[in-house]
Amino acid sequence: MRPPTRPARRRALPVLSRCHVPRPHRVSQVSSSNMSARVTRKRARMEAEQAEEDVGSTSATGSVDASTPDFARDEELWYEDGTIILVARGIGFKVYKGPLVDHSPVFKDMLSLPQPATTAAAPNCPVIPLPDSPADLRHVLRLLMPSKRIRLTGVQNASFVAVCACIRIAHKYQIDHLVEESLKYLRKFYPDTFDLFLKSRAKPLNPQYAVTVVNLARLTGANNLLPMALAECCRLGPALVLGIAQADGTREHLSPTDLALCFHAKDKLVEARVKAFAAMFNTLEDVRANVCDHQDQGAPDDQDFEIVQTELLDGTVPGLCSPNVWDSLAARVLARIPEICKPCKKAVKSAELEQQKAIFERLPDLVGVVVEGWGKDPSGKK
Ligand SMILES: [Zn+2]
Repeated sequence: MRPPTRPARRRALPVLSRCHVPRPHRVSQVSSSNMSARVTRKRARMEAEQAEEDVGSTSATGSVDASTPDFARDEELWYEDGTIILVARGIGFKVYKGPLVDHSPVFKDMLSLPQPATTAAAPNCPVIPLPDSPADLRHVLRLLMPSKRIRLTGVQNASFVAVCACIRIAHKYQIDHLVEESLKYLRKFYPDTFDLFLKSRAKPLNPQYAVTVVNLARLTGANNLLPMALAECCRLGPALVLGIAQADGTREHLSPTDLALCFHAKDKLVEARVKAFAAMFNTLEDVRANVCDHQDQGAPDDQDFEIVQTELLDGTVPGLCSPNVWDSLAARVLARIPEICKPCKKAVKSAELEQQKAIFERLPDLVGVVVEGWGKDPSGKK
């Protein structure tokens, strides 16, 4: 995959443009005269932590002053015999050049240039300033560098946050196989086939994650993730506009274009859900006339069905007019008719599944994106 949005390879420090909006006001930085060589380790770490919080202070310009390589050692990724120090916003990672060069053409290009100065603390070890988030970088270096633990499963067992960090960093440094593995992981939660969708229902993610997923799908050109992720975004309410708080104190937002898609998609999803509800009851009427066990007992389920249908329509039972198209209406119906016969119960579930499948097939259209091969097994996609 060679997504169009990836910056062209170049012989300069690349800039990672994250989707975060930097916080506008920060406590003013310590004056440069205080930033002397006498800075203690503790002090350096405190400043590094502040710098880590202060996302955007370096990435906004994309340049880091290589002449001030003050940094705190990362507690996890600092190999005494490492051959290079990557400094991300005041945190230094002493790692090995070989794996970086082997896996990332961007690092290969970058490190083929004459290296910047070393520091007294680490003579013979070039110090490379990077504008990336140290938290993101740590996730990727963990995968690339040797470990005391053997990593048998890599990305597949990583957390959602780690996988997203891997995509951001690996995309930027062109570690293509790591991008692909990480996108495969996301596909399990933001499926592009109905079979995968049914499996994904067992382990839903926090809907707030969808904002990050939309942004990563745009970054990497993984359009197949967009329909499910955009539909999830439509459930977010005010957070959709205000942004989603991240661990580093920033907020992640959708682009204005995707925000506009969501406003439109929300109406379309509600409409699709209401229509699916009507279609579901129409189907049930026909099916139940033939299968209902209670027909001969003088207590048909029909009345109960009519009551619950009215309750959902007039809002007595809430949840019909919602953009959350995957929220089960069948579960609401069944909860209101505890005495329902088995064949009717089965018919309700089956009618809902049929409607959900129909919505899933139309999902790219409902949220306003085009996805080639949507709904088809990926083995037949390529
Ligand atoms: Zn029945």
